[in-house]
Amino acid sequence: MNYDYDLIVIGGGSGGIATAKRAAQYGAKVALIEFDRLGGTCVNRGCVPKKVMWYAAQVADTLRLAPSFGFGLSTNPSFDWTTLVADREAYIRRLNGLYEQGLDGANIERISGIGRLASAHEVKVGSRTLSAERILLAPGAQPIRPDVPGAELGDTSDEFFEWTSQPLKMAVVGAGYIAVEIAGVMHALGTETDLILRKAHALREFDEDIRDQWHSINQAHGPNLINQTLIEKLSNAEGGTLIHTTDGRVLGPYDKVVWAIGREPLSKDLGLANAGIEVDAHGYIPVDQWQQTQCESVFAVGDVTGAAQLTPVAIAAGRRLADRLWGGQADRKMDYNTIPTVVFSHPPIGTVGLTETQARAQFDTVKVYRSTFNPMKYATSQTKVPTTVKLVVEGPQERVVGVHLIGDAADEILQGFAVAVKMGATKSQLDDTVAIHPTSAEELVTLR
Ligand SMILES: Cc1cc2nc3c(=O)[nH]c(=O)nc-3n(C[C@H](O)[C@H](O)[C@H](O)COP(=O)(O)OP(=O)(O)OC[C@H]3O[C@@H](n4cnc5c(N)ncnc54)[C@H](O)[C@@H]3O)c2cc1C
Repeated sequence: MNYDYDLIVIGGGSGGIATAKRAAQYGAKVALIEFDRLGGTCVNRGCVPKKVMWYAAQVADTLRLAPSFGFGLSTNPSFDWTTLVADREAYIRRLNGLYEQGLDGANIERISGIGRLASAHEVKVGSRTLSAERILLAPGAQPIRPDVPGAELGDTSDEFFEWTSQPLKMAVVGAGYIAVEIAGVMHALGTETDLILRKAHALREFDEDIRDQWHSINQAHGPNLINQTLIEKLSNAEGGTLIHTTDGRVLGPYDKVVWAIGREPLSKDLGLANAGIEVDAHGYIPVDQWQQTQCESVFAVGDVTGAAQLTPVAIAAGRRLADRLWGGQADRKMDYNTIPTVVFSHPPIGTVGLTETQARAQFDTVKVYRSTFNPMKYATSQTKVPTTVKLVVEGPQERVVGVHLIGDAADEILQGFAVAVKMGATKSQLDDTVAIHPTSAEELVTLR
């Protein structure tokens, strides 16, 4: 049968672009459909703008430390939100342009519009119906609001990145990494910030020691943590938005409220039934280990599959899929184990592998090594932001199955240790590695 394309990709974000480009490198004829700016969530409303804001927050923190290194800041340094946001958006526009050039350079046809499956081999975009031997679904996910009265008075992370002015006082509702990151950045940039948690803790899926350390550091230096709080409704008052809790408290008024309570896959309007595909109870598209959906010619990668919702995961899954389908690498597939991840919190968290609790549930003999110390950065300052590092090892060989850290530079330290964990490194091999001094990273190879 003759098709218009070898591959049609629905979604021009992390997973879609990576798959399209890798397939085209192998000579596949590819079209990519996107209705928005290229780059997807990560580039436009996720990792990239978030990291720029986090860098700004790091600068603010450094300015606060400056006097302890002899710098006399005679006036309070001013901060202009508008400049930061304008510069950030200009950078993102450059990235959007680079993605366009990259696709054009790879001879991938860019189609602007909303793609929808018409059959196992057909996609509708506007009035056109295009056919392909294979179709990739990479539409990503979107943030949700809760079902409470006045929910529309709060923004999501999408709108957070559109703010044209800095709020004086705000609340972030949520306990996951996006909530923690937004609250941390805004607090560091000088907004009075409440982080509202449903339960006792944020970051509940992280190793307990790391999570507890984040709490104690943030109680001392971070946003105002308001835990055990269920929200009944939001209302408008003269001074801003009020949050009414189910136990009768009224919080606020806030200039801004941000819901960071979760994301839902963009699977509803994809025409999945036309290819015989059913979503799971949460709306995710089920795939097998080869990223194949219930329809033989249709594949899915990224957030819409519900697996480890991170940009490098979507990219890796897509590239491996293309390697297998067009690159002759029959066994190539994504390994969803030991995926390293970082929370750009204050201070950042890096984690790879099993938490202590997970390891104890899986293995008979588990041992942990941990250390908490004040990095030299704070030696001359009254402010101390401690670092905690932790290794989780199993068995008589003490194979390292988890590395967890919170502290300055954790975000940059983790990657190399993730390689070691992936290779099955043991504690004694870490011990045999000569330390780099003076760093925080050296603590991971000198743990006793
Ligand atoms: C605030 C925030 C911070 C984040 N920070 C990080 C981080 O630091 N590190 C990290 O690794 N990950 C981070 N993520 C997660 C990361 O952005 C996602 O995991 C990643 O973008 C998923 O890639 P994807 O290809 O599945 O979807 P996306 O990148 O979302 O791309 C999907 C694309 O498909 C398009 N689309 C949807 N439906 C259709 C349709 N029917 N037709 C045509 N186009 C369609 C969308 O417009 C979108 O451009 C963050 C996310 C958020 C929200």
